[in-house]
Amino acid sequence: MISKPTMKYQKLRLIKSGGEACRKENGFGIIAGHKKKKGTVKEVARLDQKLRDLQHRLRAGEETGARVRRKYKYSKLFRVEPGSKLNLRKINPEFTAGHKKKKAALKELEQLDQRLRALQFRLYAEGQQSLLICLQALDAAGKDGTIIHVSGAMNPQGTRVHSFKVPTREETAHDFLWRIGQRVPARGEVVIFNRSHYEDVLVVRVRGIVPKKVWKQRYQMINEFEKKLVANGTHVLKFFLHISPEEQLRRFKKRLDDPARHWKISESDYTEREFWDDYIEAYKEAVIRTSTKHAPWHVIPSNNKWFRNLAVTRIVVETLEAMNMKFPKPTVNIKNIRRKYHQVVAVDEKKKGRQPVAGETENGDGRQPVKAGKPQDAMVGAMALTEAIPANGEETILSQPLPPTASMPQRIANTA
Ligand code: AMP
Ligand code: MG
Repeated sequence: MISKPTMKYQKLRLIKSGGEACRKENGFGIIAGHKKKKGTVKEVARLDQKLRDLQHRLRAGEETGARVRRKYKYSKLFRVEPGSKLNLRKINPEFTAGHKKKKAALKELEQLDQRLRALQFRLYAEGQQSLLICLQALDAAGKDGTIIHVSGAMNPQGTRVHSFKVPTREETAHDFLWRIGQRVPARGEVVIFNRSHYEDVLVVRVRGIVPKKVWKQRYQMINEFEKKLVANGTHVLKFFLHISPEEQLRRFKKRLDDPARHWKISESDYTEREFWDDYIEAYKEAVIRTSTKHAPWHVIPSNNKWFRNLAVTRIVVETLEAMNMKFPKPTVNIKNIRRKYHQVVAVDEKKKGRQPVAGETENGDGRQPVKAGKPQDAMVGAMALTEAIPANGEETILSQPLPPTASMPQRIANTA
């Protein structure tokens, strides 16, 4: 029997929103040390309610404090549960999940970036799985900014960005998923879509580019397409960057004031604003119909650019973490290689009276010392940080900035 205090209930996945169906699905096969069904049912109902309240408060854009910020996975908080209702008008685009200060959030973001770099390195090295990130939003909501941030934290080897524009003549001559299929990630890659196949149920619907009976069928086609990707080892994350119409206008105005960004302005940006409500309706239906367990949608409050970057990066990191990538086994015998090519050098150097450097010694751990400032510092530091980032429900504080060597940072238990 599993005793109550020894397991994280969040991990047991017994309790999640959607109460009734979830309870049936789990069937109380796991009773986690509870002796009496009556007491358990009450507790489940209470916790169910608590999580629903919390999601409701978040959806309503209420600030919920630092505890919530740390405790809950963002992939869960911002995810649109399959089959759930969604009222985009009620989601506060100013929401920052308890983060009061941009400066503190940016520190958190820096750590996440390092973690992302290390995880992407692992994904690339493993070469078995891949990640597809679809970014959708109304104009000026920050797709470009998000891409600059997220892709900037990764090694360009193994990442790609693709922007989907108005389909070309050739693309239009094929089914709408034709051009998408050619751009999906290969094993080991992270690909970011700046707009995606969702345009074919968004702009196409709002502007009446094809008749309703055509776009209506596309939700199911998209679900099947994404299912196929997932079956082939691609993880699919979808983000809707949610801004208010007022914030959009502010951003357009800023573009007007900045000659370096005049090229970004088009009159359609303004005329499309007239269709704001239609777009919101189209997004709502697209998100509800295509948020699945295997390819979930996340609605990201995006009036604050720093929070948008933080939330997206955190969800990407959480997703990569859950993918449990492994470095491939070495194809050579490491011990033999070390003995054959490094010990000999060490012995020769000893004879000449020079101190051998680490990695050439017979008893060294083989890791080359890295001088601060070399490009590989970031990766090595990031790899060390990988081990230091807390698991779900755990908190880790780095006692000092990471040294540029591969040494492990000190773990300090948080007693707060
Ligand atoms: P931008 O992302 O600002 O460079 O603009 C790209 C434009 O292409 C946007 O206005 C999109 O709505 C449009 N677009 C992208 N995909 C499609 C599509 N499948 N059908 C029609 N328009 C599209
Ligand atoms: Mg545009």
